[in-house]
Amino acid sequence: MKSHEHHPCRLDRRVDDTADLPPPPSDSPSTPTRSDTSVRPGRGRPNPDFARSVHQNIRSPGPDTVHYARHARHARVFTLRNEFSLTKHPLDLSTPPKLPSRGLRVTPLGGLGEIGRNMTVFEHKGKLLIVDCGVLFPEETQPGINVILPDFSSLRDRLQDIEAIVLTHGHEDHIGGVPYLLRERKDIPVIGSQLTLAFVTAKLEEHRITPRLIEVKEGQRRKAGPFDLEFLAVNHSIPDGLAVAIRTEAGLVLVTGDFKMDQFPLDNRLTDLPGFARLGEEGVDLFLTDSTNAEVPGFTVTEEDIRPAIDAVFRTAPRRIIVSSFASHVHRIQQVIDAAARHNRKVAFVGRSMVRNMGIAEKLGFLQVPKGLLVDVKAFDRMKDDKVVLICTGSQGEPMAALARMANREHTIKIGEGDTVLLASSLIPGNENSIYRVINGLTRWGANVVHKGNAKVHVSGHASAGELVYCYNIVKPKNVLPYHGEWRHLKSNADLAIRTGVPEDQVLVVEDGVVVDLVDGVAKVTGRVAAELVFVHGMTVGGGGSEEALADRVQLSNDGAVTILGILDTRTGLLTEPVEFIARGFVQDNEWIQGATKSIDDGLRAANKVKIVSGAELEEIFTQSLTRWMQRKYRRIPVITSVVVDA
Ligand SMILES: [Zn+2]
Repeated sequence: MKSHEHHPCRLDRRVDDTADLPPPPSDSPSTPTRSDTSVRPGRGRPNPDFARSVHQNIRSPGPDTVHYARHARHARVFTLRNEFSLTKHPLDLSTPPKLPSRGLRVTPLGGLGEIGRNMTVFEHKGKLLIVDCGVLFPEETQPGINVILPDFSSLRDRLQDIEAIVLTHGHEDHIGGVPYLLRERKDIPVIGSQLTLAFVTAKLEEHRITPRLIEVKEGQRRKAGPFDLEFLAVNHSIPDGLAVAIRTEAGLVLVTGDFKMDQFPLDNRLTDLPGFARLGEEGVDLFLTDSTNAEVPGFTVTEEDIRPAIDAVFRTAPRRIIVSSFASHVHRIQQVIDAAARHNRKVAFVGRSMVRNMGIAEKLGFLQVPKGLLVDVKAFDRMKDDKVVLICTGSQGEPMAALARMANREHTIKIGEGDTVLLASSLIPGNENSIYRVINGLTRWGANVVHKGNAKVHVSGHASAGELVYCYNIVKPKNVLPYHGEWRHLKSNADLAIRTGVPEDQVLVVEDGVVVDLVDGVAKVTGRVAAELVFVHGMTVGGGGSEEALADRVQLSNDGAVTILGILDTRTGLLTEPVEFIARGFVQDNEWIQGATKSIDDGLRAANKVKIVSGAELEEIFTQSLTRWMQRKYRRIPVITSVVVDA
């Protein structure tokens, strides 16, 4: 199954989108709930078109006379049940029992059953330690959602018990949720390596949060309440990654973070396998290990292996070279910079997150840029085409990123015959359509597009099965909790652990929210806490809500919307004028209007045995009548909103 090689941290996927998110409001994230569905104008946020037509068509509509029958326009934030349900677990999972004081509780709140929003909570002696707090990027079936957060609800009453957040590395699926957690308690100490903290600080600045930072390095130990932490170097597709060993009275836990075992890393910083082995000798009671590439046999090849392919591009490109990569992939960008220096080309960065991250990486010494190599993109006009390289984001086809705009000729860089575009990145499943749309656009303008499908220009950032087996053999864990992956990845990782001799009962394949207690050296599932998907949409975050709003959004995109307007004389219980229809998203011809009007008339006639005086009852009849008719005649049901106002 080659496709898993394409699974980097999904975080990488739309780094730019998140970077460009507006900071959330500084007030608490409480939000309207679905119980507010009959919102009135002035309180909610009605669709402007809709509001306008109400005013055009209705005589003196007092604000209190308008009922929104079905849809709260402002219900923009909601949570959805996790789509994975634990069906086979023998235990009746409910709130876990009290944890014995000698025990350690592990609660994954994200990253198990999905690629993204990684977050694990450890509890010992009444105190909490959080490892990572990332975001998940939405699917195409979740329109309008910017990012998805872990569910913090089980932590809300215990914010003061949190000793620290440990960040293993600077990818979005590990740090993207930090601003939202710090909004709940600003002074939680954030522990991480230099580069990780620099990336998270830049992110927090956008949210106007000044964090309490504690910088650590591999080899260091540090206490956080009852947790004794040790940090170990790991190699990944971003520099300065750390694994963390957590010692408590309950035992020793090793958390890998995202890692691979590249033996020729560009920065010569190897994954600390001697450290892993030393911990193995000490006795690892619980091992949490990256499952992303567990289905991929063998070893992940070294970053160095792609140098010849990059060189070939630079050797043969007749005109400009445009490279697209993740804005956090410092090593990959280093390779491009080195190639540019070898082939005597100048480099310009384009895109906010690319410019920002590379600035940070260079300042801290993680990116080596020869003097005079970087230029402003504006200087390209005065330079020969075969002397320039542009490095930008957008390798996943993100519509707003520079590359997609170039493909659409909406960017100041106009792609032309002889230009070469290098996608030095993974092709993440789910993004194929967008990426191929961009590749086709660029090709149509005459560019030669080099990508992982036609050249060896990408390697994964995650350990493959061979590396994982190697780790199991040197760590020799008593209990294993595969993490970071979809179910198939977790299961494959579990199988590897079992093959190396870990007893099957001690390998726990669980999903987000499932509570695992380590007591007397034995890990067991003991309960479950809330771990719903918490959506961020624009400025709004989480809150009580429902899947209904998202379902509506999908229905709107599939079938459009109809608003039915009626004016009721409450003295007679009759409509004073024929109903009006406002349709969006489908063709509204005369035949449709006649049919729709008739369906409403029929519905009213059928209900007429009872005298109607309530606007709400009328709205119900309108909606039901039109729904039934549309279903029968058109086999599709738009989102139907009925509004009845008093004459
Ligand atoms: Zn990562």
